[in-house]
Amino acid sequence: MMMMIEISNVSKSYGAFKVLKNCSASIGRGEVVVICGPSGSGKSTLIKTVNGLEAIDSGEIKVGGFRLTPGVTNVAALRRSVGMVFQSFELFPHLTVLSNVTIAQTKVLKRSKAAAEEKARSLLERVGLSAHMTKHPAQLSGGQQQRVAIARALALDPDVMLFDEPTSALDPEMVNEVLDVMTGLARQGMTMVCVTHEMGFARGVANRILFMDEGEIVETADAARFFDNPQSDRARSFLAKIL
Ligand code: ADP
Ligand code: MG
Repeated sequence: MMMMIEISNVSKSYGAFKVLKNCSASIGRGEVVVICGPSGSGKSTLIKTVNGLEAIDSGEIKVGGFRLTPGVTNVAALRRSVGMVFQSFELFPHLTVLSNVTIAQTKVLKRSKAAAEEKARSLLERVGLSAHMTKHPAQLSGGQQQRVAIARALALDPDVMLFDEPTSALDPEMVNEVLDVMTGLARQGMTMVCVTHEMGFARGVANRILFMDEGEIVETADAARFFDNPQSDRARSFLAKIL
């Protein structure tokens, strides 16, 4: 398999606190990986290192053609090829839905306004929001806002999509509309790394599960094996609490 992401012996501390301890993982092109584990285990920090939002202290991360090493952050070109979706949506509140999805295309990729809007319209249709393009984020439900955030990330034609608990801030009835969009993306071959507690999505859509605890990648297994036959005590105890 061709590797899209290679995380090699990555460690990171906040002061004396070791948040990532010698983490290694490889993710193939088109693979969908779910990262799960207890709160505070380093999941968000790990995925933020993949697009350079958090610097690493040691080790190396390769993403597509890019290489991240200690001290390197704010890698603009890499950011463009790695889309990220956060728990809290992070839309631009003063812009319409359409402008949220066009702004980086025109500012960062220097696409024409017409080309950017065409792309945005097609993405908004794909996430089921054609009827809401002229609204502002505050006029949308949480599920709709998160679908705009996904469309906005896709507008830059990323090679990889990172999701950090994309449904955790949503009312229960809105979770599935977001998971459905993510499932569609996965089926279309997008390389995806998703931190999520949605175990139905993990079991049904993920190729592999990466289980973290206390800053370590404790277990990596295909989804069925992870859920049916976890190998480590720590994974067994985590699953016993959430399932
Ligand atoms: P998770 O996403 O698995 O809940 P995080 O990666 O957010 O875990 O955080 C892991 C640990 O690192 C937590 O104990 C958290 O308090 C700590 N942490 C996260 N960000 C910072 C920061 N900027 N400064 C200090 N500690 C942090
Ligand atoms: Mg987190």
